[in-house]
Amino acid sequence: KMGSKTHEYIVMLPFLAQGHLIPFLALARQIHQRTGFTITIANTPLNIKYLRSTILSHDHDHDLHSNSSSDSNFIHLAELPFCSTQHGLRPNTENTENLSLKDIATLCHASMTLEAPFHSLVRDITDKEGKPPLCIISDVFFGWAVNVANSIGCASINFTTCGAYGTSAYISFWLNLPHRFSESDEFALPGFPDRCQFRASQLHPFARAADGTDTWSTYMQPLISYSLLSHGWLCNTVEEFEPLGLEILRKFIKLPVWTIGPLLPSAASKKCSDSNIFRQRTGKKHGISPEKCIELLNLHRPGTVLYISFGSQNTISASHVMELALGLEASGKPFIWVLRPPLGFDIKGEFREEWLPEGFEKRMNESKQGLLVQNWAPQLEILSHESIGAFLSHCGWNSVLESLSQGLPIIGWPMAAEQIYNSKMLVEEMGVCVELTWGVQREIERKEVKRVIDLVMNKNEGQGKEMKKKAAEIGKRIRAATKDQEEGSSVKALDEFVRTILAKTTLEHHNHKI
Ligand code: UDP
Repeated sequence: KMGSKTHEYIVMLPFLAQGHLIPFLALARQIHQRTGFTITIANTPLNIKYLRSTILSHDHDHDLHSNSSSDSNFIHLAELPFCSTQHGLRPNTENTENLSLKDIATLCHASMTLEAPFHSLVRDITDKEGKPPLCIISDVFFGWAVNVANSIGCASINFTTCGAYGTSAYISFWLNLPHRFSESDEFALPGFPDRCQFRASQLHPFARAADGTDTWSTYMQPLISYSLLSHGWLCNTVEEFEPLGLEILRKFIKLPVWTIGPLLPSAASKKCSDSNIFRQRTGKKHGISPEKCIELLNLHRPGTVLYISFGSQNTISASHVMELALGLEASGKPFIWVLRPPLGFDIKGEFREEWLPEGFEKRMNESKQGLLVQNWAPQLEILSHESIGAFLSHCGWNSVLESLSQGLPIIGWPMAAEQIYNSKMLVEEMGVCVELTWGVQREIERKEVKRVIDLVMNKNEGQGKEMKKKAAEIGKRIRAATKDQEEGSSVKALDEFVRTILAKTTLEHHNHKI
């Protein structure tokens, strides 16, 4: 441990979404393991409740497997008052999960009101501890935390839970809105080399419509600008994995960027705590036991099963479900598919058989070709199994890291946020992905589904073989980054980050005394 400065503490402020809360929690663990610092994570009451039960079930697993300190010993959770109905949202809406786009926008704007309660929370903790935290680590979507850090007198750090390429593209897009000035479908993004041309038709409709005065631009632009005033950024990526993305990000934000990934959920443990939490959240017994998935996986040869999931908040249309099922069946390839009710239906509701081809589930069960999982699956455990050969994914950054850290190529179906950029990087810069389609507006055809699956799952020749080789190499590099003894780059970056904030704090303390 770096000096075991157990009396030091850090305050964290993750954004109100599953894909952000979990990497923040993993970051808290990482920092504590390396330094002994305690961490306070602030959030709205419901998200705190989710974090608390994730921590408890992690500790429960942990107690069974090890005798070192459990999460609840060093992570403190602090509630920020928030009343969703005051902002015109349904009661208890504090998380982007399963929300309509309109409600997500409302929640995003409403989240700006957290600045005042966050400020008083950090002031209270500072009084209690007798000194400010070493730093505040906030989500880029809470860029205003820089104001709080400045007024308390501590360092302000942003943590982007996305990759470097995706983050750069996302912030360059929202700050410049370059698609408005292009006459064709293609546009260039400031900061990116000319060879990276982006396509307006791939943008989410709300991004495509953005003109600087709309609800999204007016939310994004000030937050990103605030984030550029912080002392540096932590990025959930690996130095050797994304050289281009990191070069662009560093030039663009002109701040230190510490690459401390991959921060994976703790779900690799047997009980899959993070999926339990989701089940509590939806209030339904959806999902499936890890054992059921492993049972299917054990029946198949290494590298032959396709895993299909669109992350924690997306679903596809009814016709997509149908064509995907028919394409899968035609390909004959084994699969595990996480299914949600299609667009237009209650995403939290039960899945109905009529959404699938007649007799599909029964046929798949009998032939052992595939397993349909309702709503939520133990993803990391599935991906870690040797029978998995590829991942059909919406290219959410956590899914990308989880897939590639296991050396698995990806069939891309990006939907929203920075996912089109992730997919583009995986295709163009790394050669580990083939894009099946994008968004939810376009139709897909079973023939195309079968063609792409056959291409990627055929590991013996052509593109499938090439992708498998590249993904395996990348997997090795990603795993090496977190190896302590071998001086992994992410371990070094975390140490470097800690040294920087310690030095900054000492210096300010010194100046203060003079
Ligand atoms: N996840 C899971 N089971 C599922 C769907 C998602 O465990 O059925 C986990 C997945 O392992 C990942 C996270 O939820 O850690 C999804 O994050 P990602 O960035 O891929 O997508 P998002 O949900 O933010 O769109």
